[in-house]
Amino acid sequence: MTRELVVAQLYPRDMNIYGDNGNVLAVLRRAEKHGLSVRKITVNPGDKMPTDVDIVIGGGGQDSGQTRVHEDLLAKQAQLRDLAESGTPMLMICGLYQLFGHWFRTHTGEEMAGISVLDVTTSAEEKRLIGNIVTDSGLFGEIIGYENHSGQTFLGEKSTPLGRVLVGEGNNAKDDTEGARSHNVIGTYLHGSLLPKNPAITDFLISTAATRRFGEFESAVIDDALVERARESAKRRPR
Ligand code: GLN
Repeated sequence: MTRELVVAQLYPRDMNIYGDNGNVLAVLRRAEKHGLSVRKITVNPGDKMPTDVDIVIGGGGQDSGQTRVHEDLLAKQAQLRDLAESGTPMLMICGLYQLFGHWFRTHTGEEMAGISVLDVTTSAEEKRLIGNIVTDSGLFGEIIGYENHSGQTFLGEKSTPLGRVLVGEGNNAKDDTEGARSHNVIGTYLHGSLLPKNPAITDFLISTAATRRFGEFESAVIDDALVERARESAKRRPR
């Protein structure tokens, strides 16, 4: 019997731009290569958040998309914080990364409360931070993606940067950080989608979830030659 992981995808209807849905597909396909099956549960506003979940993934969106999911996210905040604090691996991209912090102040000055899973705060600025980006992350090597955000995010002491910017702008174009980590939660501005070109992060989500669920997990040896070609090509793209 193939061992199964449960993945909750947050708000695919409203928070899913620049290919972010590809992150869920990457987890599904790579888990199969590791000999696991994955059951995906989509959670849109009004849907119940599953209690028995192994990985939580959410994408980015416009300010308007963030507004549409905001009330529902706040209603789920206690459960999401409990899952995060118990070690559930999560990946939040851009707009949901911002709302997983303490607050996001939009360019109109509206302050949207976050759910404080990540110790970060965000304010929108006039200058949008847009383009291809490469960062260096101790845990995952070079991370390659695409960013497009008005929000500038600053980390508090309870979060650590996901990486240091090598090419691009990152969290705020000021302190050379990109993304944030706390427990097994990753927040990042990198779209693209992120995971197909960064299998080290995909494997982190899967192996963390499988070890927590089954008590042990042995990764399969996967031929990533095509991934490496895609990474090299993406790294050569101009900013
Ligand atoms: N609306 C947010 C911003 O502009 C998030 C954008 C996104 O998710 N790409 O910063």
